Amino acid sequence: MTDSNDDPSAAPVRSRERDLPADRAFVCDDCGTRWYYDRRRCPDCGRSSADAATVRLETGTVVATTTVETTPPDVRAPNHLALVRFDGVQVTAQAADGDLAPGDTVRFEGSHRLRESRDRRDPRLVAVDDD
Ligand SMILES: [Zn+2]
Repeated sequence: MTDSNDDPSAAPVRSRERDLPADRAFVCDDCGTRWYYDRRRCPDCGRSSADAATVRLETGTVVATTTVETTPPDVRAPNHLALVRFDGVQVTAQAADGDLAPGDTVRFEGSHRLRESRDRRDPRLVAVDDD
């Protein structure tokens, strides 16, 4: 048995699949380029991604939002989604609610079952109040 989610904030974990927590991106060991969705090679220098490290995404800016009313059977409905630009990567992820708007600063927070058919839990996007 393995338990890989004891401490998601621990120093870089290594994974070859997008089966990462929602708030982590891959980072190239050679050139530092980041990417979010699993790929075989670094998009910048071509290094194999097989042993790429990962980094936690801190705060990002909402580019666009949408709400999906018709979802797969194990996904909440309505499903609030946001397209967010973090440092070096652009991500589509579940938002905690439908209140986000383009230009908002957000971060990942909480622990939710994003799909009822899976046991794993991931954070959702929430607005950051910076004043
Ligand atoms: Zn690279």
